[in-house]
Amino acid sequence: MRALVWFRADLRTKDNHALSRATRDATRGTVGLFVVCPDQWREHDWAPIKVDFILRTLRELRTSLAKLNIPLVVRECARFDECPTLVATLAKDLRCDALYFNREYEVNETARDAAVARAAEKTGMTVHACTDQVVLAPGSVLTKQDGWYTVYTPFKKRWLAVADETGVGEFPNPRKQPEMADADARDVPDRVEHFRADDDARTRWADTWAAGEVKARRALGQFVSRRIDDYASARDLPAEPGTSRLSPHLTVGSLSPRQCVVAAATHNDGRTHHGAVGPDGWIEEIVWREFYKHLLVGFPRLCMHKSFRAEYDAIEWSDSDRHFEAWRDGCTGYPIVDAGMRQLRDIGWMHNRVRMITAMFLTKHLFIDWRRGERHFMRRLIDGDLASNNGGWQWSASTGTDAQPYFRVFNPTTQSERFDSDGVYIRRYVDELRGVRGKAIHAPVDRGAIGSNEYPAPIVDHKAARERAIQAFKDLRT
Ligand code: FAD
Repeated sequence: MRALVWFRADLRTKDNHALSRATRDATRGTVGLFVVCPDQWREHDWAPIKVDFILRTLRELRTSLAKLNIPLVVRECARFDECPTLVATLAKDLRCDALYFNREYEVNETARDAAVARAAEKTGMTVHACTDQVVLAPGSVLTKQDGWYTVYTPFKKRWLAVADETGVGEFPNPRKQPEMADADARDVPDRVEHFRADDDARTRWADTWAAGEVKARRALGQFVSRRIDDYASARDLPAEPGTSRLSPHLTVGSLSPRQCVVAAATHNDGRTHHGAVGPDGWIEEIVWREFYKHLLVGFPRLCMHKSFRAEYDAIEWSDSDRHFEAWRDGCTGYPIVDAGMRQLRDIGWMHNRVRMITAMFLTKHLFIDWRRGERHFMRRLIDGDLASNNGGWQWSASTGTDAQPYFRVFNPTTQSERFDSDGVYIRRYVDELRGVRGKAIHAPVDRGAIGSNEYPAPIVDHKAARERAIQAFKDLRT
């Protein structure tokens, strides 16, 4: 039997369920496949920085696979609906008898996989869909009534209990194949249509975000040995390297959530919970990731740009382009918001605390539809992931499952004073404010530290904006 392993968001060789199984089952070798889908990716708002990270990761994957005598074939089709023909034809040309892939959970991806499986089976192939993107499969963490959890804390408790019962371990390493299968393994493309970027940007991205599973595992090891113990106290401080910054690897799959949980638990005396606050807390973040992935399966409407709470689809959001652009460009006059938006622009990533502040600012202070913000984030983030991005946006907008209540609106100035008290993060990203000293950094124009010709005065008043948002939510409920 010759196996075809179709890689998607699982670009690694270690702890890869589909690859591990395929290389054990195969008797006549294994071929790897990756399909570039430019039009579909554009429709899904993927960012150029994310596509660049995928291409760089693919190059590393190709090298690791070659050491296992597995060629990586990279092909292109515009959209997912062309995948069934492409995969079935390729499998026939390469004389593959079985198709292996790891499941994805978004609506379009699920439909694509079902169509590909049908096409492959029609040609006589066997198809193996594996659970890999999450530690616990959607559907295995349910309420006593067999329903989906819609609140995080009870989900987490159940998740931890199921993980204790089943144990969390990595899949066996893939087996080296006896000899390299003959396949037309052309180079990984250098660029992809619609996602072109200039060389300066690409060099900056490569300098900031090292790609590939070897680097990912090394970064995980360093985080666990040096920083995880301080995670609880440092994770909310955007100026500090308090979080792992592993999200790009988890998004493209150069790292798996199991590898994360196993590494943290090993450091935590083998515990996934009831250990030290640092590793316990960090594992809980991996569980947030799982929570949002499970929700996509339980509530596919989340993939269709619908509010989780349907009644909130009736909100009449502001259509102010001026406000949206000020937010997008980091010119709102609220330094912490502006620093976050400029961090996103500069490095394609934003600290979680600041993602919450900027998302709440757009949806509550500017009262702009969370979908516009969600899309903008996707178009800029290296770690753009539908489940987590949608979850984060609907949490901030109060339209989601376990969302922030609508009447709790972050005060950006207070958040800034609390989480960036010395303004180190703000000064790092907002050039105009580099010379502002002391606490004035949190509200520089109002506190007279800088003129509004140099840095914008706040584009909305916090108190008035907060009241408007709360009133709009209240009106909807009566
Ligand atoms: P760490 O703190 O080191 O956490 C480890 C891992 O846990 C992360 O890499 C991530 O995979 C997961 N994780 C952590 N926090 C969350 C969370 N709140 N929800 C889900 N998973 C989490 N995360 C994405 O991966 N992709 C997105 O597109 C995305 N969009 C977001 C949009 C908004 C508005 C908000 C509020 C959050 C979003 N998040 C997203 C979640 C979170 O901000 C990032 O996962 C986190 O900042 C990544 O940094 P890290 O790897 O250093 O995280």
